[in-house]
Amino acid sequence: MSPKCAKCLGSTNVKDKDSVLRCSRCDTVVHVKCISTNDSLLDALKNCSGLKWFCDGCVKLPFNLDSLSKLVDASRQDILDKIESNKNEMITRLEKLDEVNTQV
Ligand SMILES: [Zn+2]
Ligand SMILES: [Zn+2]
Repeated sequence: MSPKCAKCLGSTNVKDKDSVLRCSRCDTVVHVKCISTNDSLLDALKNCSGLKWFCDGCVKLPFNLDSLSKLVDASRQDILDKIESNKNEMITRLEKLDEVNTQV
C-alpha cells in the first residue's frame, strides 16, 4: 500500500518521483503539488536527483535548532555589544558633566 500524502492525505505513488517527495528524515510523503505551486521550484525538485527534502515537522527539528540558537547567540552578542558601547558613551557624558560641574 502506498503511503498517504501528509498534506492532503490522498494516496501517493512513490515510484512517481516527479509528483511525490519523501522526507529524507522520517519518510513522510507528500505530493509535490501539495507543498508548492511554484513551477520553478517543481522543476528544480525534478531535476535534482540527490536533493534532500524535509517535511514541516523535520524542518523544525534539532539540526535547525542548532543553527537557530547560534543565530540567537550572535544577535544577543550584538545587543550586548551595543549596550556596552552605550554604557561607555554614558560614562563619558557623565564625566564631562562632572567636569562642567567642577568648573562652575
Ligand atoms: Zn497531497
Ligand atoms: Zn519528516
